Amino acid sequence: MEKVHVNALIIGGGAAGLWLLDQLRREGRSALLVESKSLGTGQTISAQGILHSGLKYSLQGLLTASAREARDMPAIWRKCLEGNSQPDLSRTNIRSQSFYLWGTNSASSKLGMWGARLGLQVTPQAVSPHNAPALLKGCSGAIFSVAEQVISCEALLADLAEANQKQIVQVAETDGTDFCLGGDGRVQSVILNSPDGKQVEVIADWNVFAAGKGNAELRSAVGLDSRKQQTRPLHMVMICGGLPEFYGHCVDGATTRVSITSAKRSDGEVVWQVGGKIAEDGVDMNRDDLIARTRAELLETMPGISLEEARWATYRVERAEGTTMTGGRPDSFRIERDANVLTAWPTKLVLVPQLTQGLANTICSSPARSSDELEKLASWPRPMVAIAPWDREQSWTSLNLSSSTVAA
Ligand SMILES: Cc1cc2nc3c(=O)[nH]c(=O)nc-3n(C[C@H](O)[C@H](O)[C@H](O)COP(=O)(O)OP(=O)(O)OC[C@H]3O[C@@H](n4cnc5c(N)ncnc54)[C@H](O)[C@@H]3O)c2cc1C
Repeated sequence: MEKVHVNALIIGGGAAGLWLLDQLRREGRSALLVESKSLGTGQTISAQGILHSGLKYSLQGLLTASAREARDMPAIWRKCLEGNSQPDLSRTNIRSQSFYLWGTNSASSKLGMWGARLGLQVTPQAVSPHNAPALLKGCSGAIFSVAEQVISCEALLADLAEANQKQIVQVAETDGTDFCLGGDGRVQSVILNSPDGKQVEVIADWNVFAAGKGNAELRSAVGLDSRKQQTRPLHMVMICGGLPEFYGHCVDGATTRVSITSAKRSDGEVVWQVGGKIAEDGVDMNRDDLIARTRAELLETMPGISLEEARWATYRVERAEGTTMTGGRPDSFRIERDANVLTAWPTKLVLVPQLTQGLANTICSSPARSSDELEKLASWPRPMVAIAPWDREQSWTSLNLSSSTVAA
């Protein structure tokens, strides 16, 4: 069997694995990324793409650890999105440069103070009632605009993959990676199996698990504790039909009632992705009940909304993160280091640059290897970018057709 020596073998091609691959190539390291499905399957393709400034995590007026971790990140992303820093993300489309933040009660007027008071780089700007978007006209609480960018996660995955094509290969969905373990807890090598029956043995200084939810299974496969990972499920709602592009969080105290972002389906129609507390509460609901609850929530929080032409769908997805004592969201990214295995969870898309810097600091402590041996994989298949939930969905529910389901 052919052998390939690399500085790092990265297993999993979501935002974390792809960004790390790009960084290692720029730092002159030899790295190979393997993907068993499509790039970003799981979290990245399902994400809302909000580059949080930390404001969402400080709505109770405290600079939480989560807010502290996130506050410098949007500036790093902004430079990459402008093409003024690496990775060059100038072709990743920015869906929106800002976000509305609105409340449903009189206490919401305090929201504007938090950003500045807590030293966040992004502070909410008050929006006067006559400048409010039509959807929020007549809203009883205060309305703010926040300069948080929202990106297309599909475009991000495509950009990072295109820049590093030669270092990314498709492995079989089942048994794509067979681990050969040494007695010292190290992974000696990994046999890669392609979907079309090719095999190669990869000997890596570092084996990086960046497989999202798949990290638990990978850890078990090499004898590591899979309980270092927790998952938190979400049941997200999608709405299309006569809706304008809109980006906003409706907040009530420290809770984000709904968090709305817009994407475009491949036929050009605007789709809303609705997350926030409703997507957490929706985990225990079936599709119809969640749609009914979301409809009621939107009618209550957005006085100007018309849902007459709306068609609805939902999708379930799990967030994968390092375990916390409470089972709640970790404040930051998480890296577990075990012999020559690094397991990585970014926790949030916005924290990926910090996560990969931490990984690269460890990996780059080994002497650089040449990338020439990667030529042995030149004929291997390459993975596609995952299909977004709104393009994958086959049937949309139209409540105005007495709850009938219509084709996409
Ligand atoms: C609904 C939702 C909305 C979100 N919104 C935001 C947001 O607005 N802002 C924000 O900052 N964060 C957000 N997040 C969090 C963010 O999406 C994640 O933190 C981030 O995308 C995780 O990236 P990842 O690369 O670690 O994992 P993933 O994106 O899950 O990628 C893992 C990859 O590994 C592959 N894989 C799995 N097992 C194997 C294997 N055995 N071999 C090879 N490959 C394998 C998978 O196919 C996949 O391609 C959101 C998350 C969700 C679920």
